[in-house]
Amino acid sequence: DSQLNHNYTFNNFIEGESNRLARAAGRAIAKRPGGTSFNPLFIYGGVGLGKTHLVHAIGLEVKELHPEKTVLYVSTEKFTQQFIEAVKNNNQNDFIHFYQMIDVLIMDDIQFLSGKTKTQEVFFHIFNHLHQRGNQIILTSDKSPAEIQDMEDRLISRFKWGLSADLQNPDYNTRLSILKQKLENDGIEFPDEVMDYIAQNIDTNVRELEGSLNSIIAQATLNKREITLDLTARTLSKLVQTARKEISIDYIQKTVCEYFKVKIEDIQSKTRKRDVVQARQLAMFFAKQYTKASLASIGTQIGKRDHATVLHACKTVKNLQETDKAFRGYIEDISRKIAD
Ligand code: ADP
Ligand code: MG
Repeated sequence: DSQLNHNYTFNNFIEGESNRLARAAGRAIAKRPGGTSFNPLFIYGGVGLGKTHLVHAIGLEVKELHPEKTVLYVSTEKFTQQFIEAVKNNNQNDFIHFYQMIDVLIMDDIQFLSGKTKTQEVFFHIFNHLHQRGNQIILTSDKSPAEIQDMEDRLISRFKWGLSADLQNPDYNTRLSILKQKLENDGIEFPDEVMDYIAQNIDTNVRELEGSLNSIIAQATLNKREITLDLTARTLSKLVQTARKEISIDYIQKTVCEYFKVKIEDIQSKTRKRDVVQARQLAMFFAKQYTKASLASIGTQIGKRDHATVLHACKTVKNLQETDKAFRGYIEDISRKIAD
């Protein structure tokens, strides 16, 4: 069993500027798995942008065009669990052999190998074996190879051997096409102005686009009402409000502290220790970004500082964000955790 989801096909994967390269590479691979220079194919991008959908589509098309080939989709978490289990039962060799037999191996969310030295090592051997035999490897990640932390250099360098293609936020037209397709599938019609409104306002990712459609449909059904622009606008603004309301300065401090493994008491204190200063500045930066609090109020809540200190913190973070790659990685990680 290839573990492929038959709902995720090329047919219902809307093409747009934001996914053109990754999609085209995927199609080329499906025609000639292992026979292109795209080995591995490394697809990366933020949550909800279609990585999982796209790799299933590739796998399904391989099965269709080359029924004799074995295809396997596996999440990196599952791969890791299986490996741990194999070590426990002392049958690592079976585990390795199983993976080395696969013609097209699709591993989703490879960033989860971060920090897992043993699993990285076993994956390294499987990768080499498959690649040497011209078998196809397809990987996804929420970051580009260069940005993944705590991953062996020899793996990072292999991730770059083939093609890295990113998925970006879909543009307006792509969003509109995605909406139209989802509604058509569900057999529901929305007025054009409503579609336009959703596509204009939900510009983050496809998962949120789908989520907002579902909320609007639920609202209309619950209240036995037509789908109007008014109902849509009110539903979406409620969604945005709840998303905002949940993010408090406390929550931001907690998230930043957990990430850097420093204590909240420390960032509340006067200490100038480097890692604490960094965490404190980031907490201030995120508080400015995610809440409506003033600089003065952020300062009061984070370590009893004045507004100038908060302003300085925001500038420092922005500077580092532009000049320091690792730092940019921290910001993206924490953003994701806060927004989750
Ligand atoms: P990721 O793995 O990047 O987090 P997913 O593949 O899970 O994202 O996609 C999230 C949702 O958005 C899925 O329901 C998927 O079908 C849908 N989706 C993403 N991109 C597209 C697209 N280009 N066309 C149609 N649906 C899409
Ligand atoms: Mg995914």
